[in-house]
Amino acid sequence: MLFKSLVITIIMLSFFLSLNAAKYIDQHLYFDIFIGEAQYLQLKSESYFYLNSPSDSTYITFPEVLQINYDGNESQPSVWVNGNFYNLPITIASDKPIEFNGYKYNGMFLLTATKENKIKLINNVEMEDYIAGVIPYEIGVEAPYEALKAQAVAARSHTVKQLLNSKHSNDGYDLCNTTHCQVYNGLTRQTERTYRAAIETTNEILIFENEVVDAVYHSCCGGSTEDAKDLWGSSRNYLIHTKDSRNNESIYCSLGGKYINWYKSAFQWSSKVSKNDIKNKLSIGNIQNIQIQKRGKSGRILTIKVNGSLASKTIKNELEIRKLFNNAKSSNFVLQDKGSYYLLNGYGTGHGVGMCQIGAIVQAYLGFSYEDILLFYYNGTKISDEWLLNNFKIK
Ligand SMILES: [Zn+2]
Ligand SMILES: [Zn+2]
Repeated sequence: MLFKSLVITIIMLSFFLSLNAAKYIDQHLYFDIFIGEAQYLQLKSESYFYLNSPSDSTYITFPEVLQINYDGNESQPSVWVNGNFYNLPITIASDKPIEFNGYKYNGMFLLTATKENKIKLINNVEMEDYIAGVIPYEIGVEAPYEALKAQAVAARSHTVKQLLNSKHSNDGYDLCNTTHCQVYNGLTRQTERTYRAAIETTNEILIFENEVVDAVYHSCCGGSTEDAKDLWGSSRNYLIHTKDSRNNESIYCSLGGKYINWYKSAFQWSSKVSKNDIKNKLSIGNIQNIQIQKRGKSGRILTIKVNGSLASKTIKNELEIRKLFNNAKSSNFVLQDKGSYYLLNGYGTGHGVGMCQIGAIVQAYLGFSYEDILLFYYNGTKISDEWLLNNFKIK
């Protein structure tokens, strides 16, 4: 048994050798997240701090507030911590969560230096702590439990894909804490339920033909999901057009308003956009007419041609089309020319590819499990918690 786990550990370590700092320890994956940089920073905890510098293997105990100042140069970056001098890097741990800038974090902090002579603050966190902290920003904490679990697996798949693709390999950490990777503010919005959703799906991700799935999602498909190939030109056999219902039942996301009021306006909406607004964005003179040239299978507009008094412009990008119409909830709309403005009558919110989050929430209310939900929206995929053991092809 011990030998087996040793062999597994060696396989894990070699698998993650290409990652920046991610480490697999005792069935848990730890990685580094960029939190912030400053010349001066303060850390707080409800318990003692333990400081460790690599040049000195002993831990030094500090009280509950740390005042940290950068004081050094490029060849010798160093800091003062409550009047004590340290060369960087140092690690800081505590028995209780560590607070920085009003946010609390589990795990350890690593302090290194930036090229601009500032302190770089990095949170070394365990995968499930991270997932529990990310879910609230991706799907509301009020979502039913099976939908939270589906979101946990989708977010974990996304995380593993990012770790493998190593976006920040030159930055000294694995992930950043903004939408560039995923929004992460530690324990700030984590709840008992989001933590349980992460723990009960520990290590589970979606795989398709031995690759980690690009588990994208959106708020509301508006009737059916969009094909990734039509929308983004990237072929993904598991991100295909799917009607948001089984066996001719009602469209799942159309039932969202029964549970939470604003879901209604995510499914079906209307808005007005003045022709002057469009004119100002495009600089092609007065807007004369707009031709819808191509729609995707979900109804989302993929190509439009705007004819102005001075020139014409063709837009072939769903997000750009939404921006043109004052950030329309989706590009699945019909246009009515009302003289000085256009009236948009639309369905859905977001790009429409992958999991429909409101559909997932309704499915959870109807009694479907998180496995049912995920395999419904990610066609032909499998849920696996043994991905660390396999040699995935990385795309
Ligand atoms: Zn990032
Ligand atoms: Zn839907």
